[in-house]
Order: sequence, then C-alpha cells, then structure tokens
Amino acid sequence: MIEARGGWLLPGLHDHHIHLRALAARDDSVPVGPPQVIGPDEFAAALRRACVRLPTDGWLRGVGYHESVAGPLDRDVLDHLAPDRKVRVQHRSGALWVLNSAACRAAGVDSCALPGIERDAAGRATGRLWRLDSWLGDRVGTRHGDLAALGARAAAAGVTGFTDATPDLTANAIDALAAEVSSGALPQRVHCMAPPARTRPPDDAFALGPTKILLDDTDLPTLPAFIARIEAAHAIGRPVAVHCVTPVQLLLTAAALDDAGILSGDRIEHGALIPADTLNWLRRSSVTVVTQPHFPVERAAQYAADVDPADRPDLWRLGSLRDAGIGLAAGTDAPFGGADPWAVIRAAMHRPEPERLSLTAAVGLFLGEPAHPARRRRISSGAPADLTLLRLPPTDIIVPSRTLVAATVIRGEVVFTADTTVRYTEGSAVPTATDR
Ligand SMILES: [Zn+2]
Repeated sequence: MIEARGGWLLPGLHDHHIHLRALAARDDSVPVGPPQVIGPDEFAAALRRACVRLPTDGWLRGVGYHESVAGPLDRDVLDHLAPDRKVRVQHRSGALWVLNSAACRAAGVDSCALPGIERDAAGRATGRLWRLDSWLGDRVGTRHGDLAALGARAAAAGVTGFTDATPDLTANAIDALAAEVSSGALPQRVHCMAPPARTRPPDDAFALGPTKILLDDTDLPTLPAFIARIEAAHAIGRPVAVHCVTPVQLLLTAAALDDAGILSGDRIEHGALIPADTLNWLRRSSVTVVTQPHFPVERAAQYAADVDPADRPDLWRLGSLRDAGIGLAAGTDAPFGGADPWAVIRAAMHRPEPERLSLTAAVGLFLGEPAHPARRRRISSGAPADLTLLRLPPTDIIVPSRTLVAATVIRGEVVFTADTTVRYTEGSAVPTATDR
C-alpha cells in the first residue's frame, strides 16, 4: 500500500531513445567538450590531469569533444598531448572516435580495412574512426560500466523503461544487456534496437525493438540500397528507426519508406530539422518522431552560431508537429544529451510558441508504449504496474523536476521511494476494485 497523498500517478516514464552502455561508460570517462572544457589549453589540461589520475596501462576515454574546443583532432594531435598511453576521444555527435597511435596499435586500426577507418592521401590511418562504435567496443574490451548505478539513478527520476537506440549492436552486446536486466542489476524494462539478423524470444522485461538506420549526409546510401535495408527489417516484422537530423536525410527517408511501405512502429529519430513541406508526409505516413526537446537548450550556443536563421523555425520542432497531427515522443539521447527526463520536460514547456507544450503534453512524451511511442499507456486494472508517483497533483506543479518523484514501481516492485512522506507497506492486502 502506498499513501499517495493526492500526488499525480503516472504510467512509468519510458525514455524512448538512450544509449545505456555509452551512458554507463561515461561515468568513468573524461569530459573534453563544452561546457566543461573550452579552448585548446583546457583540453590539454584535461588530458594531462586524466593521465596522472588513471592507471598507465588503461585506456583514457575522452567524451563530448566538439571542434569548437581545439579544432579537428587526429592521432598526431593526440600523440602530441598524450604520447605514452592509449587515448580515445569521442566526438559529441557519437559518430566519430579519434585514437592516438598507442590506441591505434592496441585496437588494430592500422591493419583494419573497414571503410570507417579514415586514411590520409598516403594511406596512413589518421586515427579517426567513423561510426565504428560497436567494432571498437569489441576491440578494446567493452566495459559495461555500472548499469546498476545508472538504473538506480533513473529509478529515482521515475524512469521505468528504456529504449536503447544504439545502432548495429552485436549479439554479445545484446546478450550482456539482457543479462543485466534478467539479473535485476538494471531494474527497468529495456526495448533494444537491433539489426534484423539478431533475434531472441521476447520476455517480459527485455525485447528487441526496431532496427536503427543511421544516415550521414557525406555518405548517403543509394535509394535502392536504403529501401532494401528497410525491407529486410520489415520482412521479419521489425520496424525501422531512422536517424534524421537534416532535411536531406528526412526527404530520402520519406522516399524510401514510400517505396518500402510503412510498418506500424516505424519512427524518425531526432527530427532536428523538419521543413514545413514535409509535415504532410509525416502525418500521412503515421511515423512517430522521437525527438530531444532539450537539445535547443543544451546546444543553444552552437545552434546560434551554426544554423542559418532561415532554418531556425524548422529546428527541433515540437508543438508544431503535434499541431500537425504527427505522433510524438521523446528520449534523452544520453549520453549525447543530459540523462534527466525532467530537464527534457522543462525544456519542452519553455520553448517559444508554437513549439511549447503544456505540462501534461510534455510529460506525455515519456508515456508512450515502447513499441509505439506515440501511443500513450494508461493506468488500468490488469495493465503492467509500471508507475511513477509524484508528490504533487499536476495543478500544483510549477517547475517539474526529479525531486517531485515520490515513488517508482516497475512490474509491481517498488524500486524507489523518496522519503518517509510516502508510507509503503509490503504485502498488504490487495485493494478491491471498489477501493481503487
Ligand atoms: Zn542517439
């Protein structure tokens, strides 16, 4: 029995786009990008401090790098700053790893023929690895990080489920994640994006989700190749989740989905720039846009500098998508965005018109079904008991934040209670229908 004292009871928050392993690993990583590190001097100092602090035979893992700090990186720049140990630095986009020479040797980069290994005119590897996150993870001995600590923090924020949006997960990575869930180390349900080749019987807490497809403006697939990828996923009943951050990526995706046909559950990830003339297609095709309303806040300085004023109305649309009848949901995209869903909710409520959402609509971005993120879950008798209890009723909430979370219940288990204001009695009689 939980005494709710009039607080708002929500179906549990589900973070519809997150990268669990990368988020856990970030906790023992060195931030090397804004806002913590600004300018080449601070970058060099951050690496120097980490070299002193960390064991010499281990990897130094820098995260959050952006060119505004010290320009483009390659192995020579990193060799100059940290020659004696294995260093790898991840770009904030998640698309690029830069390794120094010691790291290149350890990971076998120089002898690897994969197209993601960038090479200079003379054929020497530059240390820049594009979209090779899973390959690199298998090479350097993936540390799964502490998923239990991550899960506990998320439970305290009212999160009862995650959709892991990491592309091209290996079978090993999927098994490891599923094991963390079945052991209870990670209490949340996980809906895990996966390539069509990966299969496993769904269970109550861990299921495979859509196939993630990454697009990159500098290396777009041909339309027939793109259609074939979508059809391969659809053929085994798996929807696609297509990463679209530019108008050209969205237009190509629209053309490919028109040809391949839509499968219920198909989704657009991010939708960072959505031109007005694509809104009709989005509504007609009934794909869901899974967006990050907090990015305009977290990346305000970069957008002010880099985004053409003419494109700004198309940047991170939110309310205008809802008004156009397009299915919407949100994910934190942590660690590439902040991991707190309440910061996302606040950001959604503080957008200028017409993108602003009400408190209820903003919270609703996290209340979708994992497989159909725009379809809201409801609290009802017989539904899975994934619940987030807040201290206050919605009418009393002025600034939504994680401190409002009074209790979190996942599959009927209380995994978090904030303090003694929530009285909780284990094993009490089940309330009858009339009590409810
Ligand atoms: Zn992502």
